[in-house]
Amino acid sequence: ATPTALLVGTGRGAQMGVLIKGPEVLESTHAVDTIVLDKTGTVTTGAMSLVGVTTAPGVSRADALRLAGALEDSSEHPIAAAVARAARVEVGTLPAASDFANIEGLGVQGVVDGHAVTVGREALLADWSQPLSAELVAEKARAESEGKTAVAVGWDGAARAVLVVADTVKPTSAEAISRFKAQGLTPILLTGDNTATAVQIGREVGIDEVIAEVLPAGKVDVITRLQAQGKVVAMVGDGVNDAAALAQADLGLAMGTGTDVAIEAADITLVRGDLRGAADAIALSRRTLRTIK
Ligand code: ADP
Ligand code: MG
Repeated sequence: ATPTALLVGTGRGAQMGVLIKGPEVLESTHAVDTIVLDKTGTVTTGAMSLVGVTTAPGVSRADALRLAGALEDSSEHPIAAAVARAARVEVGTLPAASDFANIEGLGVQGVVDGHAVTVGREALLADWSQPLSAELVAEKARAESEGKTAVAVGWDGAARAVLVVADTVKPTSAEAISRFKAQGLTPILLTGDNTATAVQIGREVGIDEVIAEVLPAGKVDVITRLQAQGKVVAMVGDGVNDAAALAQADLGLAMGTGTDVAIEAADITLVRGDLRGAADAIALSRRTLRTIK
């Protein structure tokens, strides 16, 4: 491979908003056959908003929002930002939370107004004396079948509400995914979110293979497992929880709109945060390598 051709290739990439860390990266791009895509912030915009609140009998919407919002105000998760923002709009100033704990990939816990509050995946409430009622479970399932994310809210040992947040698919994602397929790549959606939501988002953008409910530390294991099956894997992500997987992948691509940690771990940055940049990078590497040979 002539260094000059590779340098010309990386220069072309930069003009298209595809920042390639070094000329050698184009060679690994060339061999990729599988492309793993993080869901939130990569395939979707990651800008979540609260679209539904369902409470158990006797629980007011304002109480659920005040306690959940106060707790989520201490978290940086996109779900948390959506909940805290909506709570402020609806109930005004939020009380302070103490003893705050973030449980990675699951949710948050803390004390608000003297209540021990939990917001997050249903699994966090599993050992409670009063789990989600049949009505709340049904509401959660309905939201998930629509590609939305439902989180449980509980305090003092009882599940009391389900909050539904929704995120939208980026308008460019479906086109990017059909280009990956035309390039002979297998796209896989990877997320910590629940399976029903992930399957629906996959359906909206044309991804059949979904790996969901993966804890942040487990994303890297998914990449390793695919590599052990002989796949040459590209991974596209934006979050802190994607960094290890981006580093492990044969080719890591970070959204330029994502976190610094993800950008540092990746070989390529898609400056515009547009998934079509990944298809551009693959096409570019194939063209470049063809010129060389
Ligand atoms: P992703 O891979 O989509 O970025 P995460 O690993 O960040 O997802 O989170 C996985 C799941 O854990 C979320 O879908 C949500 O159910 C739950 N969760 C994580 N953090 C929070 C939070 N601060 N508030 C509510 N739920 C949370
Ligand atoms: Mg993400």
